[in-house]
Amino acid sequence: MIDLRSDTVTRPSRAMLDAMMAAPTGDEQRGDDPTVNRLCAMMAERLNKEAAMFLPSGTMANSIAMLIHCSAGDEIIVAEDSHISYSEGGGASALVGAQLAQLPHSRGEIALDTIGDAIRPDRPQTVRSRLLLLEQTSNRAGGYILKPDYVQRSASLVRDRGLAVHMDGARLFNAEVGSAIAASTYASAADTVYVDLSKGLGCPFGAILAGPGDMLELGWRYKMRLGGGMRQAGIMAAAGIHALENNVSRLRQDHDNARALATGINAHTRLTIDVADVETNIVLADCRETGLTSRELCDTLARHGVRANPNGKDTIRLVTHLDFRSDDIDSVVESISRCADRSQ
Ligand SMILES: *Cc1c(COP(=O)(O)O)cnc(C)c1O
Repeated sequence: MIDLRSDTVTRPSRAMLDAMMAAPTGDEQRGDDPTVNRLCAMMAERLNKEAAMFLPSGTMANSIAMLIHCSAGDEIIVAEDSHISYSEGGGASALVGAQLAQLPHSRGEIALDTIGDAIRPDRPQTVRSRLLLLEQTSNRAGGYILKPDYVQRSASLVRDRGLAVHMDGARLFNAEVGSAIAASTYASAADTVYVDLSKGLGCPFGAILAGPGDMLELGWRYKMRLGGGMRQAGIMAAAGIHALENNVSRLRQDHDNARALATGINAHTRLTIDVADVETNIVLADCRETGLTSRELCDTLARHGVRANPNGKDTIRLVTHLDFRSDDIDSVVESISRCADRSQ
């Protein structure tokens, strides 16, 4: 089975497991775990932020960031279909009491005018606009890299109007590798930034939230409240250190594989992809010409040894990762071609 449903499906390598087994540990909630502390220091440095915090998941990182920046009744500006609006169980409303202004976007970027118009006037009867959320890279939109200029300009636009900025950088290192622009450059526009360890970096667990010391201090209270305080979490943090040291620059391979896969699918199957749109490790393929819905196509593909996910009714989503080898590209293309051609 070749699994392209997400870059979360990777298993820890032998070397990563060895690093985990060898990790010195302590009580994380008390600040006593040396491996967690080391991972947080490495990440803070890499993202050029004052402090960083180790968390079980990206969803918790985003929830804590929203809690840091917003109060009940506030509004968060976000691209429609972003992870926060689509895939986090309604945390913004359920946990924060904030509402989402979900705005149309192109390749993950909301037009600056649209952002400006969405910021509410400061009147007693209006909801208070409080936070801009930037998803780097854009997930459901197709792995696009928010351009550095856009990141800076959108952030300064909202900051001038008193809003804060949080970067959902689940795949920030894919943006770094894909654009040859440092993660810290993107992160510099945001107050807080989260990076996932369990996506392209290949860890079994974990996320990092980074930002100014005072914000993270507040964040610790929310981390504890949400049940994110851990004990000997160094075992997990060691995987993160191993990933930072070994699995960042190799993301290039995932991007090359995604592009080669897209080129093959586009040339040899009835699915259509604009190959130039493949900027990182996510491929969105339009399946309308197959006469199958995305769900039907994915079900059929699974019987031919390839797992993919629907992304809306007309599109399937294929995500390359550490455990996907370039040798498998041809057989994926062949399976898709067999499934997508009803005349056979
Ligand atoms: C995966 C993901 C998250 C959440 O991460 P989990 O670790 O799965 O909770 C948040 N944002 C984006 C863009 C993601 O892709």
